[in-house]
Amino acid sequence: MEFLAISDAALVRAAAILCRGGLAAFPTETVYGLGGDAFNAGALAKIFAAKGRPRFDPLIVHIASIAALEKVADLSLLDGAARKKLNLLVERLWPGPLTLILPKQKAVPDLATSGLPTVAVRFPDHAAAQKLITLSTGALAAPSANPFGYLSPTRAEHVRDQLGDKVDIILDGGPSKLGVESTVLDICGPLPRILRPGAAPKEAIEALTGPLARPEAAAGTAAAPVSPGQLKSHYAPRTPLSAYSLEELRSLSRENADAGKGRAALLFFDGPSRDAWLAGRKGGEAAALRVLSEKGDVLEAAARLFETLHELDRSGFSRILAQFAPEAGLGAAINDRLRRAAFAC
Ligand code: AMP
Ligand code: MG
Repeated sequence: MEFLAISDAALVRAAAILCRGGLAAFPTETVYGLGGDAFNAGALAKIFAAKGRPRFDPLIVHIASIAALEKVADLSLLDGAARKKLNLLVERLWPGPLTLILPKQKAVPDLATSGLPTVAVRFPDHAAAQKLITLSTGALAAPSANPFGYLSPTRAEHVRDQLGDKVDIILDGGPSKLGVESTVLDICGPLPRILRPGAAPKEAIEALTGPLARPEAAAGTAAAPVSPGQLKSHYAPRTPLSAYSLEELRSLSRENADAGKGRAALLFFDGPSRDAWLAGRKGGEAAALRVLSEKGDVLEAAARLFETLHELDRSGFSRILAQFAPEAGLGAAINDRLRRAAFAC
């Protein structure tokens, strides 16, 4: 495995590996992706193998221009209303952290879409990612570069530590700017539907498309997925994690002042919540305390979420007790990740 800082030479090197059917991990504005040529079934099979990802969980195809969209999606199958929504979303939110579910082109192997007639497509807002896509085959399938079900990587070192030699080359572009994955939006139905909350806030999408369909009620488990990629348990650290409101955390701390016998780590959304918890605390050993954003900035909190969970997961705590974020904007994505991380426990 090669580990290279982003440079023109490194991008050319990674593109050559991708064109030969190899795997390259690369930075995007959301998290690091594990890329392979989206048109090469052999490369796609390697992605599933490297991640230990079940074949029923389809991949996101990354493109680097609007023109490339028609190479992977058959837009002629969309009706007029969906087409209009697509144009608006693409014009306003691409490049960016929004993945669109669209009818698939035949050239995209079934392995990329888990046999679905639709394909997930994203145009990342990251110069190096765009360059890499353009220099290789114009379309890279790239799930997050982590073992299936584990925390997503927001640094190249996370990829190296988790996937090592399962990937041919890792491009280091520093920490991810947004730090949570893209929002996955299906625009094929009568009303657009968010399949996964993410870094493009629901409010921004709704302002462009009008009302959204309600999220699907029951999410599946790894053994029996209701719909691909909507697994209840995902994005999980190895350390057991539970998520609470501040009120629940405060009552927990009163009943169990050491909040897990001194070995638990508490992860607060903001500084005032930590201070309120400390003020209401009665004795007990000090637990490790972390705050996602001292001033409660949801963007900063999202960017630090996986990074902080990685750090806590390495530190040998017996439990992580995390506070939910306010549900608006990116808070919905943070809470979705916390719920799914907690479901594993
Ligand atoms: P990841 O690549 O790990 O960021 O996850 C990609 C997400 O997109 C998963 O939740 C997938 O199930 C979802 N996805 C990809 N393709 C499709 C599709 N054709 N229909 C529905 N969801 C999809
Ligand atoms: Mg993932």
